[in-house]
Amino acid sequence: MDSVSLTYPKNSSWLEIDASKLRSNIEAFRSVSTQSSPSFRVGTVLKGNAYGHGLVPTLAVVHGLVDVLYVITPQDALVIRAFESTKGRPPCKILVLGATEPEEAVLLASKGVDMVVGDTGWDRMGPVLRQAGLVARVHVHIDSGLGREGFAPAHIPQALAFLKRDADVFDVVGSLSHFANTEDVTEQSYALEQLQVFERGCEVLCATLGVASLCERHFAASAASLVLPPARFDCVRIGLGLYGLWPSSETRLSAKIVLPSLPALKPVLSWRCRSQAVKWLPAGSYVGYGCTYRCDQDTRVAVLPVGYFDGYPRLLSSKAHVLVGGVRAPVLGRVMMNHIVVDVTRATKDDSPLLATLVGSDGPESLSVETLAGWAQTINYEFVTRLGAHLQRIVIET
Ligand SMILES: *Cc1c(COP(=O)(O)O)cnc(C)c1O
Repeated sequence: MDSVSLTYPKNSSWLEIDASKLRSNIEAFRSVSTQSSPSFRVGTVLKGNAYGHGLVPTLAVVHGLVDVLYVITPQDALVIRAFESTKGRPPCKILVLGATEPEEAVLLASKGVDMVVGDTGWDRMGPVLRQAGLVARVHVHIDSGLGREGFAPAHIPQALAFLKRDADVFDVVGSLSHFANTEDVTEQSYALEQLQVFERGCEVLCATLGVASLCERHFAASAASLVLPPARFDCVRIGLGLYGLWPSSETRLSAKIVLPSLPALKPVLSWRCRSQAVKWLPAGSYVGYGCTYRCDQDTRVAVLPVGYFDGYPRLLSSKAHVLVGGVRAPVLGRVMMNHIVVDVTRATKDDSPLLATLVGSDGPESLSVETLAGWAQTINYEFVTRLGAHLQRIVIET
């Protein structure tokens, strides 16, 4: 408790973002991937509020350390440009991976943000850009087998003929694709098929544009960048791994086999709160909605100001524990919108206010995102991105 300064929120939980671990994870991916080529680039994915870690706090740490920033929404790209101009930092290369509307494309082009041509609708953009006197830097998304955005190789000549027609306002700088199941398997036969489709798509695209090659090809997210070296191309798009989390246990297993040594990914996030109240409930008392828990003896409980509104899943009811003073304190009864009640009978010596760790380490114990995600029947990706945007993110150095 003493180590928690008064600037931390009192009646709400907060997230601690460890800057040194973020930097160390970037280095881990750089050292794995630069084996491919010296001009190789490492990009990081800041979508989903930086996987719940907070877009601006994460940006403040990674900006300048990576070669490209990937986001899904045009709004996030504008947040990054605003951050740069406020802080006086040189603009980083940004690529909006998601869909872009015509008005947004004009604004993004004016801010020097790269965009993805991944669906129909871009063919009417030529005159709009010309009118505005702008050139859009675009990357073509090739659907190699995910069935989400992108063009199948066979559709490229017709669907993308406009890129040659309007070559004065479209600067096609690269091509990309995205894997469907690299995280789910330890044998990558489907991914290898996707690589072939991508190569073919790039050839068709070059022929359609009448160019010899594309300067930037990128395909691999965290998992493929580790376990599928031929997928690294010119740049990797690191999402989950940046935050120190493994895409799956299969990926970790494969990485052990493929790489000379396993990269030390360090989880960046801790989630903590102070107690709202610590008190005794007499034997026979019920706890929480539905009266699903009944104390069979006098029980010292801590009421914690965290609930499913904050992203603490209701599926953790009567299942999870938090850490108090390095000891496990079980969640009693149901997770509520803004509260949980935990048993601290053994965890504390008295009824003074306490610090609880929902994710992270406390003394000899630690609670991983994976453990909580497993209890909540989901994956680490979903758990972190559902952490409430309203929670305060505090950047720390360890
Ligand atoms: C989310 C995403 C990534 C990053 O995936 P991770 O598995 O989190 O590394 C990369 N590329 C695209 C297109 C994405 O949507």
